[in-house]
Amino acid sequence: MPFALRELSYLVAAVFFIIGLKRLSSPATAVQGYRLSGLGMVLAIVLALLDQGIVSYQVIVAGIVVGGGLGLWMARSVKMTSMPQMVALLNGFGGGASLLVGGAEFLKSEVAGEALPLDVSITIQLSVVIGAVTLTGSLIAFAKLQELLSGRPITFPLQKVVNALLFLGIIVLGGMQVMEAESVATLFYAVAGLALLLGILVVIPIGGADMPVVISLLNSYSGIAASMTGFVIRNDVLIIAGALVGSSGIILSQIMCKAMNRSLANVLFGAFGGEVKGSIAASAEGLTVRQVTAEDAAVQLAYAQQVIVVPGYGLAVAQAQHLVRELADLIEKRGGVVKYAIHPVAGRMPGHMNVLLAEANVPYDKLFDMDEINAEFERTDVALVIGANDVVNPAARTDTGSPIYGMPILNVDHAKSTIVMKRGMGSGFAGIENALFFDPKTSMLFGDAKQSLSKLVTEIKAL
Ligand code: NDP
Repeated sequence: MPFALRELSYLVAAVFFIIGLKRLSSPATAVQGYRLSGLGMVLAIVLALLDQGIVSYQVIVAGIVVGGGLGLWMARSVKMTSMPQMVALLNGFGGGASLLVGGAEFLKSEVAGEALPLDVSITIQLSVVIGAVTLTGSLIAFAKLQELLSGRPITFPLQKVVNALLFLGIIVLGGMQVMEAESVATLFYAVAGLALLLGILVVIPIGGADMPVVISLLNSYSGIAASMTGFVIRNDVLIIAGALVGSSGIILSQIMCKAMNRSLANVLFGAFGGEVKGSIAASAEGLTVRQVTAEDAAVQLAYAQQVIVVPGYGLAVAQAQHLVRELADLIEKRGGVVKYAIHPVAGRMPGHMNVLLAEANVPYDKLFDMDEINAEFERTDVALVIGANDVVNPAARTDTGSPIYGMPILNVDHAKSTIVMKRGMGSGFAGIENALFFDPKTSMLFGDAKQSLSKLVTEIKAL
């Protein structure tokens, strides 16, 4: 294929990625965005295939069949609530791929006895180091979320010093490798080994509650590693796609940290979630929780003029999104207005609630971001909290000792009344008590969200 035509086609693929990414910013254009990016990826793959380097078509086809088959099986069988671990695993594979490609290029030059040009040597080192950290870091994130490892921060004395020394070791040995006139395999393996260890050690002290931010950051690393690999194998579209993943991952990590009122440094080094903190637990005696039956809650909802639904992680666990939509339709048929308040970190991954509600075809114009809807709670008859906890915890506003102090929350406690649907008095991911449940304006409808919603629907229909 002529060079100019190939480069032009790569450019087209990159433009598809960029427009696709832009379209992902709104639910209305997201599907189109996915298709465009997918098209860009097909184009990039076809071009890369025409340009086959060191492997044969047989190997490529075998790779596509095995990898594609595994990917299809994983994507079809993964539960919505396990999506973060799946993303972690995929990031890890991305990092692993960069590690292998960088390594293969190094070994190729080693076997041929050729000295690598300085720029290639540097990008190989970067692709191997970032890829290795991403690989093992992502595997630890996966293990924590899958509960194969404790979700609690795993800490040991002088941990930060050990990590800093490892980092320094990588820079020194990597620098020596780059400066050597000839490739030194021992140095190369030492750098890769230290980077693999660093990936493990930087992620183990991070608590499960912060794992989604870490995954987003590792996603960014996998992009940067891919971009470096693009320089190594001189593939422009890989450089651009990697840079897009790298920058969007960093932006997303920042958005998530802001929504939790934490700094990225605090997430990475704060060992948040180590102990279960109960600011109310100590004084919970004497506080009472008011329970409500599905019958009474149904009457309250049926005669409300405005209801704001606040979905949280529990809704995703119960997979009750279709019933929420059914309930909202019934309330609206009776003349009430139903809106949905979406907290940026509700659930376990960015956009979790949007995706969940979109599955049930809840119209986008009924979904409101926290800033848009917070002032409306005061005028709202019933705030219906379904499986949400931390994102509606008033301690974030008032309790300076709370680990979530300062995190912006949905002002559910400002509503005229609140119904909270959850199975019991279990805490949320931050592991803390919630004063909202003891508020005199709050009634608790205990039970699995799907069963409770189903009862509410039946009761309202019978009214
Ligand atoms: P939480 O994790 O705070 O609470 C979920 C609640 O759902 C639990 O208290 C649980 O109570 C209840 N629940 C679980 N299963 C069911 C069920 N089947 N039916 C009914 N209720 C159920 O969820 P939020 O969405 O409020 O908060 C998200 C948390 O995750 C925040 O702490 C946020 O910082 C964190 N996080 C989220 C990220 C994101 O990107 N979305 C990123 C990083 C962190 P019970 O056991 O009593 O039923």
